[in-house]
Amino acid sequence: MIVMRAMDKTMTCAEFQDVLPELFEAHSDLSGHEHLKSCENCAALVRDLEYIASQARLLLPIHDPSPAVWDNIQQAIRQDKAEPPATATQK
Ligand SMILES: [Zn+2]
Repeated sequence: MIVMRAMDKTMTCAEFQDVLPELFEAHSDLSGHEHLKSCENCAALVRDLEYIASQARLLLPIHDPSPAVWDNIQQAIRQDKAEPPATATQK
């Protein structure tokens, strides 16, 4: 079970970020998460996501961000860690 895995203190950044959307949707107490106590990168990421989520709640007339919103966030996380595309930044 994914949420149970999130309680593992020895999880890696990739594992933590993998379960992060589930933790958000479950309204877990992320500030007390063991991984965040030892990982400033993920602590900063959670602060960003909390900001995005709060903005999304202001913008959307629903209580929870849609799965599409999390898809976009997860894609952004993965693109952040992946090699930058050479010429894919055009809009
Ligand atoms: Zn981490």
